[in-house]
Amino acid sequence: LRDGDGKLSLTTRILLAMGAGLVLGVILNMAQIAFINTHVVGGLFYMIGRMFVNALQMLVVPLVFFSLITGVAGIGDIRILGRVGGKSFALYLATTGTAIAVAILIALAVAPGDGFVMDGIDTAGIAGRDAPSVWDTFAAIVPRNPFAAFAGGEMLQIICYTIILGVAALMLAERSTPFVQACEYMNELMMKVVQIVMAFAPYGVFCLIAKTFTEQGVGLFIPVMSYVLVLVGALLLHMFGTLMLFLKLISGLNPIIFLKKIRPAQVFAFSTASSNATIPVTLRCVTERMGVNNSVAAFTVPFGATINMDGTAIMQGVATVFLANVYGIDLGLGGYVTVIAMAVLASIGTAGVPGVGLVMLTMVLGQVGLPIEGIALILGVDRLMDMIRTAVNITGDAVVTAIVARGEAQIDMEVYADPLAGDRTG
Ligand code: ASP
Repeated sequence: LRDGDGKLSLTTRILLAMGAGLVLGVILNMAQIAFINTHVVGGLFYMIGRMFVNALQMLVVPLVFFSLITGVAGIGDIRILGRVGGKSFALYLATTGTAIAVAILIALAVAPGDGFVMDGIDTAGIAGRDAPSVWDTFAAIVPRNPFAAFAGGEMLQIICYTIILGVAALMLAERSTPFVQACEYMNELMMKVVQIVMAFAPYGVFCLIAKTFTEQGVGLFIPVMSYVLVLVGALLLHMFGTLMLFLKLISGLNPIIFLKKIRPAQVFAFSTASSNATIPVTLRCVTERMGVNNSVAAFTVPFGATINMDGTAIMQGVATVFLANVYGIDLGLGGYVTVIAMAVLASIGTAGVPGVGLVMLTMVLGQVGLPIEGIALILGVDRLMDMIRTAVNITGDAVVTAIVARGEAQIDMEVYADPLAGDRTG
C-alpha cells in the first residue's frame, strides 16, 4: 500500500478517494438535501470532476503523438511495426468476439427479462442510429486533413498519420535524428505533465464518484435487476476470467501481478467512463508499472482504446437477450450471430467515450429488428454500467499490450515482477 518513502501510494489514495466518494454519494442520494445536492454536488463537485476529466483529455492527443513517433523510431524496422499492428488487431478482434459470445451464452442461460412487466417507462425521444458500413469505417481511418484530426481528437486518424510520419522519419535515417530527439524530449515532457495531473487524481476521482452516486442512487436497479446482475456477472467473468486466461495461456505472464498493476487505470476508467481519457493512465501502467517498452505500448494502447471494447460488446450481448425476452421475440441463431458481428464492428468504428455503448446498441437492435424504444428500460442504469464496462475495456487493451510485448520480447520482466515499479516517484 505504501510507496518507497513510506507514504500512502497514489494508487491507495485514489482507491480511498473512490470509496469515500461512493459512500458519500449513496448517503446524499438517500438524504436528498436539496441545497447540498444542487450546489455542492451539482456545482463544486461537478466542476472539480469536470476539470479533472478535461485535464486527462488535454493530455491524450499530444501524448499519443509524441509517444507514437518515439515508438516507431524506437522499433526502427517497418516489418516489426507491421507485426505488432497485425498481432494486436487480431487479438483485439479475438478478445471482443469471445467476450460477446460468452455474454450471449450466459444471458441465454439465465434469461433475464422473462416475464418483465412494462409500464411507466418513458420511450419518447429515443432514435435509432444506422450502422456505418464496414467500408466507411475503414476509409475514415485515413485523415483528409491531419490538423482537423488532431483538433477533433480522431484517434484512428491520428494514429494513421503519426505512423506514416514516423515511417517517413525512419526512411530519412540520420537526417531525422534532431526530429526524433525532439519528440523523445516532448514525450518525456508529456509524461511529466501526466504526473502533475495525476497528483490531483484523488480529488478528481472523489468528486466524480460522489456526483454519480448522489444522482444515481441504488433504487434505479430494482426494476432491471436481472439485467444488471447478468451484465455485471459477465463483465467480471471477462475481466478476471477470460482475459486472464488469454494472458496466461498466450504469454505465460502472471495474472495476479497483472491485475495489481492495472488497477489505477481501472479506477480511472471507472471514474471517467472513457477509455480515451484513460489513455495516459493506461500507458503509464503498462510502461512504468509492467515494464512494457514504449515502442509497443505507444501503439497498442491508443489503438485499443479506440477499436477494442470488450465490456461494451458484452453489454450489447446481454442487452439484446434481455430486450428480446422482454418483448418475447426469438432472435434465433442467425440473430445472435448478427449481434456478435455488429458489436465487434461497431466497437472498431466508435470511439471510447462515455455513453457510446448505448448508441452502438441502437444500431445492433435496429439490425436484428428489436424495438429501439427498449433502450429506455436500461437507460437509468447505463451510467453505472458504462463505468464498469469501460474498466473492462481498458483491461482488454492492457492484456493485449502485454501479450504482444511479451511475444516481441519488449517487456522488462524485472519491472513486471517488481511490486513497487512505477510507484516510487509517485
Ligand atoms: N464508455 C466506454 C468507453 O469509453 C464506451 C461505452 O461502452 O460507452 O470505453
